[in-house]
Amino acid sequence: MPDEAAAWRYLEGMVHRIFREYGYGELRTPIFEHTELFQRGIGETTDIVEKEMFTFTDRGERSITLRPEGTASIVRAYLEHNLAAAGGVAKLYYYGPMFRCEAPQAGRFRQFSQFGVEALGSSDPRVDAEVIALAVNIYRRLGISDLEININSIGCPTCRPLYRERLLEHLRPHVAEMCPNCQRRLERNPLRLLDCKNENCKRLTDNIPLITETLCSDCGGHFQQLMQYLDGIGVRYRINPRLVRGFDYYTKTVFEVVAGDLGAQNALCGGGRYDGLIEECGGPPTPGIGFAAGMERLMMVLKSRNLLPQVKEKPQLYLAPLGMEARQALFPIMIQLREAGWIVETDLLGRSLKAQLKSADKLGVPLVGVLGEDELRNGQILIRHMDTSQQELVPITDLVAILKKKFQPSAEFHE
Ligand code: AMP
Repeated sequence: MPDEAAAWRYLEGMVHRIFREYGYGELRTPIFEHTELFQRGIGETTDIVEKEMFTFTDRGERSITLRPEGTASIVRAYLEHNLAAAGGVAKLYYYGPMFRCEAPQAGRFRQFSQFGVEALGSSDPRVDAEVIALAVNIYRRLGISDLEININSIGCPTCRPLYRERLLEHLRPHVAEMCPNCQRRLERNPLRLLDCKNENCKRLTDNIPLITETLCSDCGGHFQQLMQYLDGIGVRYRINPRLVRGFDYYTKTVFEVVAGDLGAQNALCGGGRYDGLIEECGGPPTPGIGFAAGMERLMMVLKSRNLLPQVKEKPQLYLAPLGMEARQALFPIMIQLREAGWIVETDLLGRSLKAQLKSADKLGVPLVGVLGEDELRNGQILIRHMDTSQQELVPITDLVAILKKKFQPSAEFHE
């Protein structure tokens, strides 16, 4: 609806601006891709690929999927357009609708909007810290500062298999006690048990070995450095060894930003490093890291905390013509004023003065210009200041001067 859409525009504007300030360039990818991209990129054992994708066969018998997330498409575009050739780190961002066939509930929809970044080409933990700082900065700039930032490292293809084995040794004897979902994915993706919400599964993983204890020296060192960088910029975080996230492509750093007042679906944003993904998608070995953030949940938090500014544009002038001649005379004047950038409204229903003043009042317009037959004959217009109810008769040609006196002209219009 218009009021809500205006709030979205404001928020979108903020997000685009902050991304650009951090040196990220926008990449617009298609709404759908070949299904295989997501299967390969997101991972066959993930919830998204197993059961949440909107997948169709098109007229050419190709399998296509409405994008459930942004990273796989960004990686595809990065490879297709050979962005690596420019050298350095490719800093890209995206914004748009995503689609997941999930059971809708508060904060969880089947079509939702995400904004996110991907920084491709550097394995430096400073990039991890920059990306986390960027996410946090967006929320802070919007007025949300009491956030919980969870971080973890889930290792790499060198150390994760060892952890996986330790985890399986611990969990296999308890397979009968697990939820059906975890039973099914235990052998394929045992790490996902760590963030299962089922009470039994939670209990089973109470005393499990922690992944942070089994990291190889490369991953351990990376994680330590990340924490030092975060400490250095004053970002407070919590190490959450249960944080594994729902994508297969993550390596090393994973993180999530959580708002306490969102209820069950409390994650505002999540992300991580994916040093193997670009190779998996057919490119050269290239490290990368990014995050994705939900707009609807952000909107919910901003609304509930009254942090949305009044973004509705109020008309500056309401033109109230009385009679056919006045209507004809005022119409071109209104169009000219609008072309010059003033926000002007009028009555389009041929109503009485009383009804027109009521409309102007409802719209919150500070100035009303009343044009009756007498005024028209004298080339004048009656200006009513709605806040004080004072009225003055002025030449019609003075309308712009009156508007300028009342409102600060913006740089781009009004001349
Ligand atoms: P993900 O892509 O699953 O890591 O999610 C990143 C962020 O997108 C989450 O923290 C949410 O804010 C948002 N999000 C993910 N799935 C949904 C959904 N189905 N409905 C609304 N927001 C979502």
